[in-house]
Amino acid sequence: MDTQAAPFQIVPARPADREALAALLVETVAGNGSVGFMHPLAPDRALAFWDEALAAAARGERVVLCAWADGQLLGSGSLVPVQAPSQPHRAELTKVMVAPAARGAGVGAALVKALEQAAGRLGRRLLTLDASLVEGPAAFYRGLGYHVAGDIPEYAYKPLGGLGATRVMWKLLDARSAPRRAPADPGADARYMGLALDLAARAEQEFDEIPVGAVLVSAAGQVIGEGWNRNIRDHDPSAHAEIVAMRQAGQALGNHRLVGTTLYVTLEPCSMCAMAIVHARVARVVYGARDPKTGACGSVFDVTGDPRHNHRVQVQGGVLGEEAGARLTRYFRAKRGKPSS
Ligand SMILES: [Zn+2]
Repeated sequence: MDTQAAPFQIVPARPADREALAALLVETVAGNGSVGFMHPLAPDRALAFWDEALAAAARGERVVLCAWADGQLLGSGSLVPVQAPSQPHRAELTKVMVAPAARGAGVGAALVKALEQAAGRLGRRLLTLDASLVEGPAAFYRGLGYHVAGDIPEYAYKPLGGLGATRVMWKLLDARSAPRRAPADPGADARYMGLALDLAARAEQEFDEIPVGAVLVSAAGQVIGEGWNRNIRDHDPSAHAEIVAMRQAGQALGNHRLVGTTLYVTLEPCSMCAMAIVHARVARVVYGARDPKTGACGSVFDVTGDPRHNHRVQVQGGVLGEEAGARLTRYFRAKRGKPSS
């Protein structure tokens, strides 16, 4: 937290807050927020929900926090310690809501952090939640260090109708995090990504492959592996750019461990490549464009960030990402434009 006073206060909910909480719940549901209810939510039902939730809080079976500024309720979030005797260490994050007028001010992140602190005080070190995939709350939790367990299709009806998928997420509060290693040469990331983009261009122009390029760089800053997608040309389902670059580096080093290296790749690695990166002990992955369909560095799966691995991989996305993404988009658009062979 910075030293500047927050423009809002986060405090436990009191019974007197029931009306404000009910109004927030009704507003959230009306805005198609997935919090368990269908629109329109009658105020009486919202009040009944909070009366029960606040009673549970009084019994120590729930934590309800509110974010206030000048007497206005900006948001609320709940933590439910799991009652099963086999899970004395787990709690569920639920009903995290921010009033539309207060969005973008960090209220949601502050609520989640405060709920994590509350969990810590209760001895709950594993937090789980399910985030709707429709409005992007999954990305919000990902930014707060939550891992993707997986997606469940047709999980729940949206308040305004239609079945929506959910993303099950989790966070171990005491898990080690990847060491932050800033590059010694701040221009290096863009430079090596530029090389990877050149390789992506070659893949497309010379071999008509999907334009993805990868460069593996040693701790000393030497390029020890280069690759681009070769699936079609090599009849090889595993010949993604990252695999090709790591294979080349392994040959060059005479070692299957690529300790201390940084992998630059124009597109977020898939699960196969991410797992190979973990196996190879690559220190850092820098990728360009996110892959919302198969990305395994947090977008869809979180293979590199999973704290169950012994090896920590530091991940940074978005380096020259627009350029990398635009090339892929052009490629697929041109492919679709051609008659199928
Ligand atoms: Zn891959």
